[in-house]
Amino acid sequence: MSTITPRQMLCPKSKKSIKFPYNMTPTRIVVHNTANDASANNEISYMNSNNNQVSFHFAIDDKEVVQGLPLNVNGWHAGDGGAGKGNREGIGIEICYSKSGGQKFIEAQKLAARFIAQLLTQYGWGMDKVTKHQDYSGKYCPHRTLDMGWDSFKSMIQAHVSVKAADVSDKPAPTSEMKVGDTVIISKGAVYGGVTTARGKTVPAAQLSPKKHTISKIQKNKGVSEALLKEISSWVAISGLVKTKSAESGAVKIQTGATVMIKAGAKSYDSKALASFVFKNAYKVDELKGDRAVLDKKGICTPVNVRDLVLATK
Ligand SMILES: [Zn+2]
Repeated sequence: MSTITPRQMLCPKSKKSIKFPYNMTPTRIVVHNTANDASANNEISYMNSNNNQVSFHFAIDDKEVVQGLPLNVNGWHAGDGGAGKGNREGIGIEICYSKSGGQKFIEAQKLAARFIAQLLTQYGWGMDKVTKHQDYSGKYCPHRTLDMGWDSFKSMIQAHVSVKAADVSDKPAPTSEMKVGDTVIISKGAVYGGVTTARGKTVPAAQLSPKKHTISKIQKNKGVSEALLKEISSWVAISGLVKTKSAESGAVKIQTGATVMIKAGAKSYDSKALASFVFKNAYKVDELKGDRAVLDKKGICTPVNVRDLVLATK
């Protein structure tokens, strides 16, 4: 499944005090229906041009995702006031063509499900972060999505999250690079192998990086290379495993461009707490000065101490 890149049509800065007065660290997604029959392009251009205290981050129709607000500022869409979590911490998403419904709405809702799944992955969020306007103000919104079944919309999102996990096992497994005795970490989206009912299911977060595992056996099963991990006595598809080497061993030095993972519980270089999702992902070292490493400049852009990093090689 290809990545969706929203088309940006950002609300002018001159409207900041009306439309997006506060900085925001998103903690959730708030789903809406427009109750209108306009395209995403027209919804966003209308929002950008009027002076109503109404704003949201994305409008999605049957063709595209259009972005009106950056994700680091708030919008006014959830009806829970100036201090409400919906307005102040929610990524507002409007699904278009809900007034008349029909095929265009169905397609818009499909695209929204895919895009929301992508946001969940990006933020390391679970399905519990998908909320609806109704949760904040009681308004019957997203009206048509609710009519058609909120749970079925959530399953549509969930299906994309799972497809993504399954994709991992389709990648050519670097079997040659993994051998019995190797220490590995399990990356997010890795799936179980073996012959039990767990096969194909996603390995739960508790077993993921930074937890280390030892490979005690390797086999090919129904075309998938899998490793038996000693600590959990389970087969896991090798494509979801990453070999680790400790930076402190001296054998491997972390350099600019290296792919690394952050040790559990580590703080940022200036001793700030890090969001829990950063410990589950691998990042590139984009800058290195003494013991200060800056990871993923375009994304999380976090400075950390080199001693809190583990080199990840695949
Ligand atoms: Zn709404």
